[in-house]
Amino acid sequence: MRICFATNNLHKLEEVRQAVTGSGLTILSLEDIHCSEELPETRDTIAGNSLQKAEYVYANYRVACFADDTGLEVDALNGAPGVYSARYAGPERKSDDNIELLLTNLRGKANRSACFRTVITLIGLDGAQSVLFEGIVKGTITETQKGTSGFGYDPVFMPDGFGRTFAEMTMADKNKLSHRAKAVSKLVEYLKAIF
Ligand code: IMP
Repeated sequence: MRICFATNNLHKLEEVRQAVTGSGLTILSLEDIHCSEELPETRDTIAGNSLQKAEYVYANYRVACFADDTGLEVDALNGAPGVYSARYAGPERKSDDNIELLLTNLRGKANRSACFRTVITLIGLDGAQSVLFEGIVKGTITETQKGTSGFGYDPVFMPDGFGRTFAEMTMADKNKLSHRAKAVSKLVEYLKAIF
């Protein structure tokens, strides 16, 4: 079965393609469906942004697709940066600046617990009817950046039970436990049940 992953983030595309290997699902990119514009994400919740991106692609390209939106929720910051994770340090969406601001805001705080939350919205298999899948991974924010793999906040996020940040893991290892991999696995189970 072929389905489009509505993302302009090539890291996410690669992660999801690797996560669904062997499932019978072929993931098309936005380039494959000739969509080259930025997707809108102006809602104030992670689920809202995920739905908005999926609805945009389905409305304009009429292909079955799914979109994800992810936020890093830090307990000591009352859940920030959350839905604003990409623009935490400004509209330029620079990961290095976001990480620097996060580490500054957490300086001196004993509680460094956090979680990544991903919501995936699937649309287009049953008209404009949408289905949402959530994946969460808990962990802590490290004092300094560690590792060079992955993207975004990976160098400062250490999942619970592991002595390594996501950026110190291979993509295969991150995919065994990550927020996105958990949401994708729910999506794949859903698709297997209906096809
Ligand atoms: P979005 O889902 O692309 O809007 O991502 C929101 C923010 O979270 C961006 O700054 C991303 O770089 C970051 N982000 C999303 N997924 C991950 C991940 O798996 N690891 C680290 N950072 C992520």
